[in-house]
Amino acid sequence: MTFHVHTYGCQMNVRDSEAVEALLAAAGHVRVDDEADAELVIVNSCTVRDMAERKAVGKCGNLIAAKEGRGRARRSANAAVKIVGLMGCAVKRMGLEVFKSLPNLDFAVGPRRFGAIPHLVARCLAGEKGILELPDDDEVPTGMDAHGSGNSFQSYVTVLLGCDNRCSYCIVPDVRGHEYSRPAREVVAEVRALAARGVKEVCLLGQSVLRYGVRNPAWLPDDPPSPGGYTEAFPRLLEALSAIEGLERIRFTSAHPKGCTDELVRAYAEFPKVCRHLHLPVQSGSDRMLKEMGRRYTRAEYLAAVAKLRAFDPEFAVTTDVIVGYPGETESDFEATRSLMEEAGFDNAFVFKYSPRPGTRSAALPDDVPTAEKERRDQVLLSDQQVRGQARNDRLVGTVREVLAEGPSLRNAARWSGRDGGNRIVVFEPKGPLVVGTPVKVRIAEAHPQILIGEVVV
Ligand code: SAM
Ligand code: SF4
Repeated sequence: MTFHVHTYGCQMNVRDSEAVEALLAAAGHVRVDDEADAELVIVNSCTVRDMAERKAVGKCGNLIAAKEGRGRARRSANAAVKIVGLMGCAVKRMGLEVFKSLPNLDFAVGPRRFGAIPHLVARCLAGEKGILELPDDDEVPTGMDAHGSGNSFQSYVTVLLGCDNRCSYCIVPDVRGHEYSRPAREVVAEVRALAARGVKEVCLLGQSVLRYGVRNPAWLPDDPPSPGGYTEAFPRLLEALSAIEGLERIRFTSAHPKGCTDELVRAYAEFPKVCRHLHLPVQSGSDRMLKEMGRRYTRAEYLAAVAKLRAFDPEFAVTTDVIVGYPGETESDFEATRSLMEEAGFDNAFVFKYSPRPGTRSAALPDDVPTAEKERRDQVLLSDQQVRGQARNDRLVGTVREVLAEGPSLRNAARWSGRDGGNRIVVFEPKGPLVVGTPVKVRIAEAHPQILIGEVVV
């Protein structure tokens, strides 16, 4: 069949979708860029906020209507669709309820069970429908190392599955199960194979990626010892990946301040391939809120982690996630978040309006910050971040950044864009022909809150 996977949500979902595409291609199906040409359409869902889940379920509903040629859907963009599947976090949350919302769905499969999809498609082609596959909390997925044969120079690699943190507001541990660290030798083999295929940059994924090797050992007794004497599993992984020839950059996400150890800082300092950027979600700047949320750090501990990273490199980029309107968040809690963001000097920030999720601890609390107030707090933080982003980027004018070329800029094809080590977008005019994934040195001439513009240095 021709197929298309439509992805909502985080990088983990992007990675899972890529693995599914590779598994379907290996089973003889043909990936198409345009959903309109696809006979099989799979929607990879997110449930972290209510709106995210609604979007994925709504999308599936439209696809099913198109498949059945109902109403306006008959003339819809999905004329070729014959099988519709739903995968990912919303399936695990909804369970059997998914067929109440989507009665004619062909199959639904939770995270950590996506390896079954080619088999489910075969069952649907044999006439079955309404198949539900829910993974166990400790299941280790099959097909995790499947990558497409595309020529992208960047790749995600999942290293830590699930989450054991159980922050009060978060549904992720319920839907993605318990933590499981993939054996380091598997990760190293996967990255080595990617590098041999031309991948220059990998981003290691885990909900709390610095807990790699904490719940189960990632390094086994017969693995070679760390040449640099690293004793912590994650910095030791960075050391092993740094030695892979052809690989230029290593990123990872997301982090927790407790994981910002001396060994991690040593790895940043010792291995130039490890990008000096950390996505370190803070969620709130108020100690009272942090305690309620079960985040396991105080404002002071969080700021100390940021200071530690910037102490060895003042340009070290730190980005974050913040939630506004958590139950009981007062104006003074919110002001504490504002001041923390200023003190931390974030390079970028994603702001989320609190959304109660079924089964989480905070869902039992009244969602008492009115929607309009959540909206206002969101806007205040975003406009603060614009000013801060401009100031942080202004400091980089005149410096030379090493940029991995990503391709022509969307707005102006004569210009290319790429990212520096700090994950900042840099726009430049290439001098002559350029290949995607090539490192380019760019002197920054102009700074904006979200992008830098510069000239290629010969
Ligand atoms: N594991 C990461 C961490 O805690 O560092 C983040 C994972 S979560 C998929 C991404 C972001 O969604 C969180 O950092 C949080 O800001 C936001 N989020 C999670 N649950 C939420 C909720 N119930 N309402 C609003 N935002 C939420
Ligand atoms: Fe959710 Fe907290 Fe785990 Fe992140 S660390 S996925 S916010 S429970």
